[in-house]
Amino acid sequence: MEGHDPFGFIGLTYDDVMLLPGHTDVIPSEADTSSRLTKRITVAAPLLSSAMDTVTESRMAIAMARNGGLGVLHRNLSIEEQAVQVDAVKRSESGMITNPVTTTPDATVAEVDALCGQFRVSGLPVIGPDGRLVGIVTNRDMRFVSPFEKATTLVRDVMTSTGLITAPVGIDSDGAVALLAQHRIEKLPIVDGSGILRGLITVKDFDKSDKYPNATKDSAGRLRVAAAIGFFGDAWDRAVALREAGVDVIVVDTANGDSRGVLDIITRLKSDSAFDAIDIIGGNVATRSGAQSLVDAGADAIKVGVGPGSICTTRVVAGVGVPQVTAVYEASLAARESGVPVIADGGLQYSGDIAKALVAGADTVMLGSLLAGTDESPGDLVFVNGKQYKKYRGMGSLGALQTRGKKTSYSRDRYFQADVPSDEQLIAEGIEGQVPYRGPVAAVSYQLTGGLRQSMFYVGARNIEELKAKGRFVRITAAGLKESHPHDVQMVVEAPNYRR
Ligand code: 5GP
Repeated sequence: MEGHDPFGFIGLTYDDVMLLPGHTDVIPSEADTSSRLTKRITVAAPLLSSAMDTVTESRMAIAMARNGGLGVLHRNLSIEEQAVQVDAVKRSESGMITNPVTTTPDATVAEVDALCGQFRVSGLPVIGPDGRLVGIVTNRDMRFVSPFEKATTLVRDVMTSTGLITAPVGIDSDGAVALLAQHRIEKLPIVDGSGILRGLITVKDFDKSDKYPNATKDSAGRLRVAAAIGFFGDAWDRAVALREAGVDVIVVDTANGDSRGVLDIITRLKSDSAFDAIDIIGGNVATRSGAQSLVDAGADAIKVGVGPGSICTTRVVAGVGVPQVTAVYEASLAARESGVPVIADGGLQYSGDIAKALVAGADTVMLGSLLAGTDESPGDLVFVNGKQYKKYRGMGSLGALQTRGKKTSYSRDRYFQADVPSDEQLIAEGIEGQVPYRGPVAAVSYQLTGGLRQSMFYVGARNIEELKAKGRFVRITAAGLKESHPHDVQMVVEAPNYRR
């Protein structure tokens, strides 16, 4: 192992270390948990949801971004399906919707009804044949059209077209709120000098901004979203489709990021100016030299973790991996010099592990099992002996790797098995299981960042930079770990942040 590991060459993980308490004048509620996700993006809560098909689809990504973190959409689905998920996040809450759903004067009210239902909106701008805005049709305009006449009534006969309130491109949010309030309207179309519709601002989005002040947003006020790609086959087409759908961050997501194919696609993405606005994360690695390879390829952040995941069997199937605290520390030695943020991916069991990851050298953490039991993860609740669970499986589990009649499993190249001819010949590196139901992401994320704030209070750190600078570890023994958990009592009530 390279580097100056303060613990020698033994690999240590979260349960092997504790943070030392220090002199403090920080109160937890005042600790600033914001941290660097990539070279250019900062998040208010240093939490990412894993790119796994039982963790992150659009609902999870929306919830993560609203609560100040970021979701990474998994890639075990077609390119089109993944692009639709990106689009759903980008449309979900925004200062300005840049490509609003529209209708035409000759559409019927029934068609508008169907579109409003599909996109969960309450009205649409109306566009003429030359692309100019000619009106707006909202629920208010359609309220008195009888259900029997909806299929024959045209938009042109009910839309609001005279006295239409619009705003010019570039209006700021204060100006937009003032117009919405002054005219008591809910939707404000944005038009350019030629009358062409360029966007739409809705009052609903301002309500949400008040409700989620820490949300992770782009410069246009839309929630940010990341999505995973591989390096094999049509990975490039996937990256292009994700870009066109508006993705903010692409994660080249594999089990061994220090490999030619992964480094090549990162280099290609970073040198193509069409991807300039998108940050590229590479992974996973678990050594200093692996991290250096990703840094040299130009990655905007590097993701660390080979085998720490709760559903992962890489370390027993292949005998390969590095206990996570040491892996993060080693990788950070390469990343720190170049100012590239580190993501500690997998193996976190409790909120206290977040601060340990950050002190070891990470800037953010990625969570699978801790989020798989929330309302927003894909999949239904399952009942076992009266308790509620949700399914959670590794992306290297047989279930995720198998094709099951589909043309392909999109996640096989994560484990470098894209060339395996049949399902029977797959080598799994993960298992399928279930995790306890945990309620909404908002509550879980609150407990996790709350735990981090407590860590910061004990260490005496006002912000993450101070936590990283001041945090010191003590190595503990099995007896110390036993002492850390509740002991010598029978637990009768689980805490929201502690379950066994
Ligand atoms: P957790 O938070 O559940 O401990 O770990 C989640 C992480 O495990 C994911 O973000 C991903 O990096 C990793 N992972 C997901 N599925 C598998 C798998 O089947 N095998 C391995 N080796 N790692 C996995």
